[in-house]
Amino acid sequence: MEKLDTMDHLSRNFDPYHPFQLLQEVCEANSHIIGRKTRDLNDTRGDFHNDIEEAFGNFAEVLQTTVKGLQILRQAHPFVDAAVSAFILVITIDLTRKENDRKVTVLKLAMHDLILVFFERHQLDIKECGSACDAFLKKSFLSKTIRALQYESRFADFSARFKEHKCSLVSAFTLHTSVGIDSLHNKFDQQHSEVKRIQDRCAAMDLFHKLDTPREKDVKNFIEDNGGVKECLGNDELLEELIRKSGESLSKISGWDNSKRPDDLPSIRKKLFKELTEDIEDLFSRNASHFERKLEIQQRQLSEAIEAGTEKITHILLSGSYDRINHTDLQTIWKDMGWKGSVKARHFVLALQDYYTDKINSMVSENLGGGRRQSGMPILAQRKDLLSFRQQNNKWTLAYINAAYVQPILEAFDDDGTGFISIKEVNNFTESCPKGWSLPHWIAYWAVGWQANVSLYKNKIYSLIQTMFQTLEHVHSSNKRAVDEYLCQRVFWRIELLLRATRSINPNIMSDSPDLIRMTESYAASEEEKLTRNLEGVGYYLDTATTVTLVTGEGRIERVVDYRIQNLEAIFKQTHLDVQSRLGNFAFGMFQLSYGDIKRTPSQNSFSSWANENELIQMGKAPLTLDEISKILSCVDLSILKYGIQDGFQSTDFSEFETSRLRHISHPLQGTWSGISSRTHGQEIITYIVRISLRLSVDNESLLAKGEDFLNTFDAEGKANQTLMGYKFYLALLDDDGANTTATGFLNHDQDIITMSWSNRRKEQHSDDPFYKQFALRRTSPSLLRYRYTPQQFAEDRVRSRWAFACNAALHLAQEKLWSRCFLEARFAERRRFVELTTRSLSVGLGLTPQNPLNIAEASELEYLRQQLDPSEARFYQAISEFQIQKLPWHAWGCDWCDHRITYSGMLCLQCLSDDLSDNIHLCAACIDKSPTARGFTHNTSHNMIKVEETLHDFYFAHVVEAARNTVDRVKGLLETNEEAREDTLQRGGDEDNLFLFLLQQTSVGALLGLRYLR
Ligand SMILES: [Zn+2]
Ligand SMILES: [Zn+2]
Repeated sequence: MEKLDTMDHLSRNFDPYHPFQLLQEVCEANSHIIGRKTRDLNDTRGDFHNDIEEAFGNFAEVLQTTVKGLQILRQAHPFVDAAVSAFILVITIDLTRKENDRKVTVLKLAMHDLILVFFERHQLDIKECGSACDAFLKKSFLSKTIRALQYESRFADFSARFKEHKCSLVSAFTLHTSVGIDSLHNKFDQQHSEVKRIQDRCAAMDLFHKLDTPREKDVKNFIEDNGGVKECLGNDELLEELIRKSGESLSKISGWDNSKRPDDLPSIRKKLFKELTEDIEDLFSRNASHFERKLEIQQRQLSEAIEAGTEKITHILLSGSYDRINHTDLQTIWKDMGWKGSVKARHFVLALQDYYTDKINSMVSENLGGGRRQSGMPILAQRKDLLSFRQQNNKWTLAYINAAYVQPILEAFDDDGTGFISIKEVNNFTESCPKGWSLPHWIAYWAVGWQANVSLYKNKIYSLIQTMFQTLEHVHSSNKRAVDEYLCQRVFWRIELLLRATRSINPNIMSDSPDLIRMTESYAASEEEKLTRNLEGVGYYLDTATTVTLVTGEGRIERVVDYRIQNLEAIFKQTHLDVQSRLGNFAFGMFQLSYGDIKRTPSQNSFSSWANENELIQMGKAPLTLDEISKILSCVDLSILKYGIQDGFQSTDFSEFETSRLRHISHPLQGTWSGISSRTHGQEIITYIVRISLRLSVDNESLLAKGEDFLNTFDAEGKANQTLMGYKFYLALLDDDGANTTATGFLNHDQDIITMSWSNRRKEQHSDDPFYKQFALRRTSPSLLRYRYTPQQFAEDRVRSRWAFACNAALHLAQEKLWSRCFLEARFAERRRFVELTTRSLSVGLGLTPQNPLNIAEASELEYLRQQLDPSEARFYQAISEFQIQKLPWHAWGCDWCDHRITYSGMLCLQCLSDDLSDNIHLCAACIDKSPTARGFTHNTSHNMIKVEETLHDFYFAHVVEAARNTVDRVKGLLETNEEAREDTLQRGGDEDNLFLFLLQQTSVGALLGLRYLR
């Protein structure tokens, strides 16, 4: 702290012509902090681990010092602003993050080293590296580990680059300062710089390996010992072991928050395989624009902080306790009370009350007697009506700066919840006071207004979520699944816990103070405006907790709930045994239910039962109609959608390649080509027809291409060159998500055959994928390729094969032209088969139930169809199949017997249901007669079950269970009174339990919800 004094001094004596001199002085002045072991982590001598831990431990402190120094420097000299800003932004953006990865920290150390000698150029590198770190940190532990080598390699590049910049800058400085530098020496340097860079890179890689935590090492060894990543992911046992070793919550890997069992292997495998094939370069570049937006917000907040904080720095530097308080009133209190560094919160609030009672009352009487202006209060408004303003506006606050509101007031000051208020906290509080408010206003706001706002938003959130669930029945069937998945997310019951725990304000408290109501509203409005602006800044995309902090700013908004709870817990534990009850008193109980072993408790879910306490705001009460929904939607700006509105399927138009249109230029490459290509899709190899149409651009300069297979379409552009034997060409795919797919091909003029092969970034790691193998393209129309002879047929009988092909093709074309009935029927049959088989194979691949895997004959039928169908048809059929899957009813739970994800309907046991409804036995239609024993339940086929035909949300859960149990009782009653019916049933061979089962199966959840009981 004392050393900042030097900085302050320096910034005042700043010489704008020698910016680096200042920085150097700052560094020297703080050398005891900055110099401490931040560098030369590559130096492996000595106790590596101790050194490194120490370096990490100091890192935050070192950075804060550097950043403060740089901020002063930047203010004093706009010249260095660009580079320094980039650095400060990137470094500070994650400073608050708890789980910083050590590898990222090392990179930041390297950036930090760099910035000390380097200002003008290359801030791009810094931003790029920052964005890479950001993208990396968002990944789960397992996905980081399985791609460790690739990430490390990219990071090592950054590290080497920073080192290189550092060297080149140092030599540039030397060049400037020392006249007559040895130019030979310089040359020598250049020749060796590449070697040096490689060495640096290796050293960095080496360092990254040393930084592996025991857990990372363990997982890496495990993967190595078991035959590599692919092997581990492919094998159920190995994957389970891997997940166990990673110790990571399954929700983070699978992206599902609600899977109640840790056996959702297929979706985890799918996710990890996707991670494995993901292009890192691509990932980094996709993250870059979002990162840039985050930096902009950080920038705004930093500059606001600098605006407000210049005086703060000078204040902090002064010694003496009360002197360090910025606000005069509080300074006086502190001085009068003779307090030292901190004071017990309760005493502070009481003193505050006394002070303001005296002051405001005396001011009122002064004012009555003609008055004079009193110094010591911040200037609030126009000077001429200052007095009346103050008198009118402060008097009412006395009702709230009062022992009755001790708790909320002390919470407002006592930010860390220690029960003591420090000078720093006092200053933070006064600095956050909105412009135009006096301190008593600000305190009164926290005494009551805050709770009023909390209650207001509690109501708003409740009614918003109720609206969401009410809208559910109107959701289009193709979107239903996405909406259901979204509403099952963990966040919803976490929100519910917060809302349920929060005590609402007594609406009468504020009713006699219009001033407070007005201020509370204006404060809420300004905060909301700030949040909206920041949310727009990040495009409403909150990817990590850090981004949330960025959006909410340093201030309250209950700083990202879990961090807040952790901090409070740590402090409460020191003083109170019962953290839970202490939290009950804190922040109106907001955190109480979110502490400790929290879990989903649908039985207490208050979303559907909640009714607005404040009857004035009755919204979302009446059931929503479609008309109302579309009215609301018409006011929503669709630009908030990150991916916009996309069409699921778009047909491709190849008309520009028709021969009639191509006639004006003749080139042997022009026209439509088709052939057979393959690729790995999941774990199987798929072979299909690919179509590529080529033409020259109007200026004859470039080659344009359009193509399609059963999964994708593509556009490409390239060049063609004539060679001795034919034409060589090169194509680059446009809009390729950064994978940089290219194709090289050769047209053999004599044979009229193109041999072509694909290549992209992924090729290096997946060279065995048949996708990269060379394949042949012929001038056969893609719809006629199916009639083409195989090479064997051709070898056996050339004439016969050619004739057969010609006859079949001619017949096809003729029938097509005539719209022949049998032609169309054959098409329809193909479509039905393709869609049915693909849908079934997709649902097996996705681990959905009921499963109906393809038998060998069916699998080869599908394979055959893919090699028969024109890609335009196949792609359309494939899209239909995917849509079939997407439309399936979706359930939050898997089947307790076969472990698959349930589609269509599931059976929920009414007996095997925990009291809080958080756990249950749920079976798929195929396993309905099974008796699983799991998680303490022993299910039995005689149990009563309900058929669940769509996602059963917690919102309805308790209600459905209750209605179902009532129905069971009712049916039982009916049976008991109606002996005849009973005997009748028994005669038909069924027993009573089975009848219940049967009746309940007929009673769908929809019927239960409508309370239409069975007769
Ligand atoms: Zn099952
Ligand atoms: Zn049961």
